[in-house]
Amino acid sequence: MKLHEITTDPKKNVEYVLKCRRNRKLKMMKSKGNVCSKCGKKKSVEQMEFHHTNPSKKKIEFAEKGITRSWDKTKKELKKTRLVCKDCHGRLRKK
Ligand SMILES: [Zn+2]
Repeated sequence: MKLHEITTDPKKNVEYVLKCRRNRKLKMMKSKGNVCSKCGKKKSVEQMEFHHTNPSKKKIEFAEKGITRSWDKTKKELKKTRLVCKDCHGRLRKK
């Protein structure tokens, strides 16, 4: 997709961003082994989340700003996280 197409059509813009976000997440998941670090299950992209092991060092909200960051920065951030599925993430948050 060319740049002018992205900016002139808001609908396409949204689709493009969502696609980028999904691709970035897939890449992030792959670098973490693609499976939940708690239960070891592999689930769909929508079911997988990143849990910050140390919330005070949290710098990036992956869901919001993931695609605007460089991959290098994302990788650094990923080291502070665990890949977990939604179910396990819910349990981790309760603690
Ligand atoms: Zn799990």
